[in-house]
Amino acid sequence: MKYALLDRGDSLSRELAEQFHALAQYKGLKEDASSPDVVVSIGGDGTLLQAFHRFIDRVQDVAFVGVHTGHLGFYADWKKNELAQLVDLMATTEPQKVSYPLLRIQIVTDDETRSFLALNEFTLKSMEGTLVAQLNVNDEPFEMFRGDGIVVSTPSGSTGYNKSIGGAIIHPSLEALQIAEIASINNRVYRTLGSSVILPKHHHCDIVPEPDEPLSIWIDHLTMQLQGVRSIICTVAEDKVHFARYRPFPFWNRVREAFIGSNPDELEHKRPK
Ligand code: NAP
Repeated sequence: MKYALLDRGDSLSRELAEQFHALAQYKGLKEDASSPDVVVSIGGDGTLLQAFHRFIDRVQDVAFVGVHTGHLGFYADWKKNELAQLVDLMATTEPQKVSYPLLRIQIVTDDETRSFLALNEFTLKSMEGTLVAQLNVNDEPFEMFRGDGIVVSTPSGSTGYNKSIGGAIIHPSLEALQIAEIASINNRVYRTLGSSVILPKHHHCDIVPEPDEPLSIWIDHLTMQLQGVRSIICTVAEDKVHFARYRPFPFWNRVREAFIGSNPDELEHKRPK
């Protein structure tokens, strides 16, 4: 089993990375930074996003594992004091592979169509204040959006930016994408749906901005500024991202721990008999 490791770059993550390499060498795991079977990220969910984009060309061939240096994350579900246990399991156990849907984004300009994959989401904003863009669903006009921006997220990204703007949390076993609004302008003149929309895999949405509107585009943590965009087509990607699960940590437990906190006594008390 060959592994690659990416750390956040802070002193704790670097120290843990050194510990990991030492433990891995002792257990006979081989480091291979270019064609690994497992990619270990040490830092947080943001570090795993970076690892995903670094290995995006091999996304079908690798499985990711995340170690969190702070609180438990959504992609980083191993704690810093569990490194030895993780390495031991990596050396001795065949992990369960869990696959999550990704978002395919095609940005169409006069000259070309560029294609991207997102693990969390695609975010569109205007460089000049209010974003004005038509939203089409399955090639039919749906609404004219005016506001701060639009976020199209994957199910695993639904706990990120999407949640902060009122989108729903979607279980990553559902192959879907979610369109959520950032501060839409709604009055007697301008009208959008106002709630987030969830599309199944066989549907798609096109965002058609005003001609020559300078756009700020985010794909996960990566950003670019573009002008002359004719449309942006969002679909559930054919490719999926794979995670190596060496122990179960159900998605809804992660949601509860991240956003609600656990009060096991009280929850145990109310458990149906
Ligand atoms: P960042 O601004 O440094 O961190 C954003 C926060 O989002 C971090 O706490 C990160 O967790 C957390 N996060 C990332 N993916 C998540 C997920 N799937 N579920 C729950 N939390 C998640 O940016 P970054 O670390 O480079 O991450 C980029 C992501 O930030 C974007 O993909 C977007 O989802 C999120 N974001 C959120 C907002 C907002 O909520 N208002 C605004 C912009 C971007 P860790 O601390 O574990 O790294």
